[in-house]
Amino acid sequence: MAVMTTNRFHPARFLVSASRLDQAPTDRGAEVAFAGRSNAGKSSALNAITGQKALARISKTPGRTQLINFFTIDPERRLVDLPGYGYARVSVAVKERWQRELARYLERRKSLKGLILLMDIRHMFKNTDRQLLEWGWHAGLPMHILLTKADKLGAGAARSACQQCERHLQALNPEASVQLFSALKHTGVEAVRAQLEDWLNFEQPD
Ligand code: GDP
Repeated sequence: MAVMTTNRFHPARFLVSASRLDQAPTDRGAEVAFAGRSNAGKSSALNAITGQKALARISKTPGRTQLINFFTIDPERRLVDLPGYGYARVSVAVKERWQRELARYLERRKSLKGLILLMDIRHMFKNTDRQLLEWGWHAGLPMHILLTKADKLGAGAARSACQQCERHLQALNPEASVQLFSALKHTGVEAVRAQLEDWLNFEQPD
């Protein structure tokens, strides 16, 4: 008989959008941020993890795409949707401002316990992904990679992409972990939830 597990992320609710760090919620408790290039599948992943159909739609509404969006799970825990980077149609000025605010958030946020980096399994390790991984390694921030849209490859090809990713990580961020993920097929959802539970200090079931 299948064991029923409760989804601890289901209660997630939109809290606030911040364009600057000083607009973020009070820096207490624990939070995990999600980063990735636009179209990597971040919204779909957040919806799959929380089991909500449209939670991350809020981050895609006009005017909110360049903001850091905070979702609360309970008073001590949050998920954070960082703006998608590498979007070609964004001006250089916007990119620079985004990078500055992202850097500020990543460097100063004490409640940030880990960073989930999403990469499309067919387009791994773009420059911005590499920079983020190297930065995370130097900053000592735990990182976990989701190779998204794994359903686009056959099982064997997906496994070998994952192994290739692990090899690349040796040079970029040897502490980072990686897993396959598909919002469409629900692959790897439990694994990423377990990682989040660990970082957010949820008690593990006996
Ligand atoms: P975001 O820009 O990173 O938030 O990406 P979205 O979640 O909006 O997804 C971008 C595109 O990829 C959309 O067309 C999604 O339908 C598609 N997509 C997202 N996740 C998956 C997945 O697991 N499998 C497949 N095949 N497509 C996906």
